[in-house]
Amino acid sequence: MSKILVKKYGGTSVGSIERIESLADRLVRDIARGEKPIVVASAMSGETNKLIALAEKIDPDYRGPAYDMLIASGEQVSISLLAIALEKRGVKTQPLLAYQLGILTDSTHAKARIKDINGSKLIELVNKNIVPIVAGFQGVDEDDNITTLGRGGSDTTAVALAAAIKADECEIFTDVPAVFTADPRLVPKAREVSKFSYDEMMEMAALGSKVLHIRCVEIGAKYGVKIHLRSTFEEREGTWILPEGEVMEQAVVSSVTHDANTAVFKLFPVPPGPGFLAELFKTLAAKGVIVDIITQSESDEPSTKGQQRLAFSVTKEDVPLTRQVLKDLAKNVDVNLIENMAKISVVGVGMRNHPGVAARFFATLATQNVPIHIVTTSEIKISAVISQADLQKAATSLHTEFSLDKID
Ligand code: ASP
Ligand code: MG
Repeated sequence: MSKILVKKYGGTSVGSIERIESLADRLVRDIARGEKPIVVASAMSGETNKLIALAEKIDPDYRGPAYDMLIASGEQVSISLLAIALEKRGVKTQPLLAYQLGILTDSTHAKARIKDINGSKLIELVNKNIVPIVAGFQGVDEDDNITTLGRGGSDTTAVALAAAIKADECEIFTDVPAVFTADPRLVPKAREVSKFSYDEMMEMAALGSKVLHIRCVEIGAKYGVKIHLRSTFEEREGTWILPEGEVMEQAVVSSVTHDANTAVFKLFPVPPGPGFLAELFKTLAAKGVIVDIITQSESDEPSTKGQQRLAFSVTKEDVPLTRQVLKDLAKNVDVNLIENMAKISVVGVGMRNHPGVAARFFATLATQNVPIHIVTTSEIKISAVISQADLQKAATSLHTEFSLDKID
């Protein structure tokens, strides 16, 4: 029986003409085996960064239709090249941009959310033995503006397409063979994990793991699409992202996740009254900025007694949007931006039933002399903002403390 399968290829998988040609060879083999692929591709590696750098030379804070039109263009290049490579091999293809397929999103530029996809067009193409090759990362809003889904958003395009055609799995091909207990570049003893639950993967993505885009995991969870992250360069299974009930081993902590590009905004004095904070965080949320660590404290200096300080962290990518919002809202407030921060977190569904994880987390960082700037916890994670310089020792020691190290 032939199987319709959405297959997403990241930037390195289409990073050069040689890679595109060998990807086309692999797809030809998949088709010969009876698979009916729907392909989603990212831009060639490095291209989106180049486009962003061009825009930022003109105005680092501009976000709007022109920005999205610019940064969405990388995918147009990669899908066309891949289509040409497949046509050369005798495979019929149809390269598709978001507007041609009707990937409808809201109008939050640079962070749009998919509202609707017309899956029937894809099925029609597949039934005619035509391989749809869809530009990841982009959408179109109700006014026909091009939108983009946030960095790494091609994963979300793929899982949303899988949901739209009611597929029960989606393959995400990337340059790593699996999801690890930590980023192996930071923690050399990190191990591959064969299964994570949607909740764990969502926390990991929210906390800085770049392996999968957070929205793709949310959509997977909501529509029951199992996500299989695997290597473009090796033909073997990687990591499955599944409902919690299907993940057998429930480690107390299943991963140590970090975001090396955390920025902290400090505001003083916070305008009095409850209105300011509500307005600030509402506006940031409307722009798609995720603020997950917030602290407010009273000044203890005699001259400013009673006035409030506010600190919150965002990822570096959200600094321009945040700065824009603060420019509008925080009048007569001292705004300080500290950029060389990192966020370190431990995640695991097993934390729900095991007390004492916080104690071990803080004791480990204390033993390593790592000062903690701000902290936050949820049912299945603990995170702290620390200085970038302390990241490596914090990550490796937490990885050891929670018995995640590879045994060799
Ligand atoms: N090309 C986009 C990016 O670099 C989308 C993606 O790769 O998923 O963020
Ligand atoms: Mg990616």
